[in-house]
Amino acid sequence: MPRVLSSNLGYPRLGEQREWKKTLESYWSGKTDKETFQATMKELRLDHLRKQQQAGIDLIPVGDFSYYDHVLDTAVTFGLVPARFGYTGGEVTLEQYFGIARGTKDAAAGAMVKWFNTNYHYIVPELNGLTPQLTENRVLKLYLEAKKELGIEGKPVLVGPYTFLKLSRGYESNELAAWLDKLVPLYAQVIKELNEAGASWIQIDEPSLALDVSAEEWELVHQAYTKLNEASGTSNLIVQTYFEGVDGFGKLIDLPVQGIGLDFVYGLEQNLNSLDDWGFPEDKVIGVGLIDGRNIWRSNLEEKLGLINVIAQTVSRDRILLQPSCSLQLVPVTTKHETALEPVLRDALAFADEKLGELALLTRAANAGGAAVQEELEHSRKAVSSLASSAWRTAQEPHTDHSATRNVPFEERRSIHEQKWQLPVLPTTTIGSFPQTVEVRRARRLWRTGEWTQQQYEQFIENEIREWIDIQEELGIDVLVHGEFERTDMVEFFGEQLDGFAFTKNGWVQSYGSRCVKPPVIYGNVSFVQPMTVKETKFAQSLTSKPVKGMLTGPVTILNWSFVRDDIARSQVSYQIARAISDEILALEAAGIEMIQVDEPALREGLPLKRSKWQEYLEWAVGSFRLSTAAVKETTQIHTHMCYSEFHDIIDAIKAMDADVISIETSRSHGELISSFEVHGYDKGIGLGVYDIHSPRVPAKEEIVQLIERALRVLDPKLFWINPDCGLKTRQHPETVAALKLMVEAAHDIRRQL
Ligand code: GLN
Ligand code: ZN
Repeated sequence: MPRVLSSNLGYPRLGEQREWKKTLESYWSGKTDKETFQATMKELRLDHLRKQQQAGIDLIPVGDFSYYDHVLDTAVTFGLVPARFGYTGGEVTLEQYFGIARGTKDAAAGAMVKWFNTNYHYIVPELNGLTPQLTENRVLKLYLEAKKELGIEGKPVLVGPYTFLKLSRGYESNELAAWLDKLVPLYAQVIKELNEAGASWIQIDEPSLALDVSAEEWELVHQAYTKLNEASGTSNLIVQTYFEGVDGFGKLIDLPVQGIGLDFVYGLEQNLNSLDDWGFPEDKVIGVGLIDGRNIWRSNLEEKLGLINVIAQTVSRDRILLQPSCSLQLVPVTTKHETALEPVLRDALAFADEKLGELALLTRAANAGGAAVQEELEHSRKAVSSLASSAWRTAQEPHTDHSATRNVPFEERRSIHEQKWQLPVLPTTTIGSFPQTVEVRRARRLWRTGEWTQQQYEQFIENEIREWIDIQEELGIDVLVHGEFERTDMVEFFGEQLDGFAFTKNGWVQSYGSRCVKPPVIYGNVSFVQPMTVKETKFAQSLTSKPVKGMLTGPVTILNWSFVRDDIARSQVSYQIARAISDEILALEAAGIEMIQVDEPALREGLPLKRSKWQEYLEWAVGSFRLSTAAVKETTQIHTHMCYSEFHDIIDAIKAMDADVISIETSRSHGELISSFEVHGYDKGIGLGVYDIHSPRVPAKEEIVQLIERALRVLDPKLFWINPDCGLKTRQHPETVAALKLMVEAAHDIRRQL
């Protein structure tokens, strides 16, 4: 009887209790030595393999484990270390490795960029003029280790040459062929050695093949894989795509390899249609990515079994591998410790370990079934349906109207606001947060552990607010903020107070390096319960005659930084959040706060990977922002803030948000941003960050003046605001005051010349 196999694509590095993070940080701080570090990491690595083995996974990935980042591992394998790290060839030392990742005292770290449209960041390889060489066969060592220590016949995982080059910088696009020529022989060597060591499957990750690949590029990819295939001997190569359906499906399945992995979650429709149109080569295995590797919910296994049956009509069962849609590194490790969650919710969750359980179960069900399997399927079905039918998820009319608008257009609001607010030209303001000092953190801890009463804590917060209102007044800032001292995190703070959100104890995922995030879980209908920010804002306003800006996180950012329920469209969840934020805005307005900033720093990162899908996303993302802000009075001034400066390709959407004032992070790529406004214009209130808040360095006044003057050559001075790049919560008190003082002076100097 031909058997379907299960195959995993990658396992989280973190460990159940973030042991990985702790091991790294303890090594970096010098608390553990190199030997202990390596031994602890090895234990973790083997532990992860053992778990996958016990889950009954047939093909277990090796080489996905990393000390920092798998793209950096790849660069280092090929000796692609930028000259500034003083590397002269040979094996890259641990110190050099972490030097590239984190910077050294003499050399800046490699750039960090989001891994496709996820919240994981990889270190960008810099190729400028380097000559690649094979420094060590890292994945071979890990393959041999798994075999020796655990008797596991692992499946080595590599970042494929095309994707690696697509993610790298430091070469011209017409040099892609030349770079493939340099790299492919080295990949071939790695693969040859893996074959000699007995690897039966080798997974080569090529997510970039699911994006825009030109005909020439397909040609190059085909040539590259022809060479890799020649080197692979009896090993089977599987080219793995994920995150999207594949436009070049015909080309992909035509590659001279033994297996093709496809995402049947995020690329479900497209890949199924392509399978229909193209069929599937009889000599290849298909990797069916059907368990969602990016979300935290149990799967509907009946649906998945249906999908397997559909695929089995085209590909025979003995050539089917059941897989997660992508590496499980994007989800937390296990729900085992989430005992504080409501049982119905907890039982509906599936983190990495539970997903592996689902994969194994589906595999058994697809192969034989039997009473035990039926029982487990039934348990899963119940868990899914209990959440679906819970009171948390009552039916709602889908929101289809993207066109919420303020009752008066900006041109009219502009003069209404001039009248009402009587601000000087080039008004000065900040983005919201002031330093979260050790005292602020300590106060929150004492309050959370119950050592402080609610009243003590509130008193503390009020004192902070008072101190900073005084500072802002003394500095002569025109529009003040309360400072966000009561917030740890701009999403968590709102999620904790809205209905429909839950917080896990251990739901951590790696963001970059040892830095982890624990996204809130949106499990039910989101709704407003009671005012969340009115008290502090009102208090701040009571201390000053200057306007105090209310400070909220926007719906799209809350959505993009959470794990979102998967039974309704993201757009619907976004609109639910928008309504809740709108309620908060109206509550602020009713309390006399009539200048309100709604931050959307994560709007851009929600953009789909394929441009053809951008418009749809932007329509509801902008629609949600507008729904949240549209109901205010015409005299109320809505601000928004964004932390990136890549605007040229979404500028129409930004304009369509119709905020009265937008502040944008600018100082690090000023030239670029300004020229995009030169081309596209902007005719609402705008503040381009005038100094970088990521560094403790206090800028010179002259630098600030120059940035402002440059901006005013392109933008209308009557609509221009003066503010730092972003919130100041990571800065210290003295540098914050010093920098703001210069900012205000610079604004005054230029005002006098206008
Ligand atoms: N208002 C927030 C702050 O000042 C904005 C943070 C952000 O844009 N990421 O911290
Ligand atoms: Zn910001």
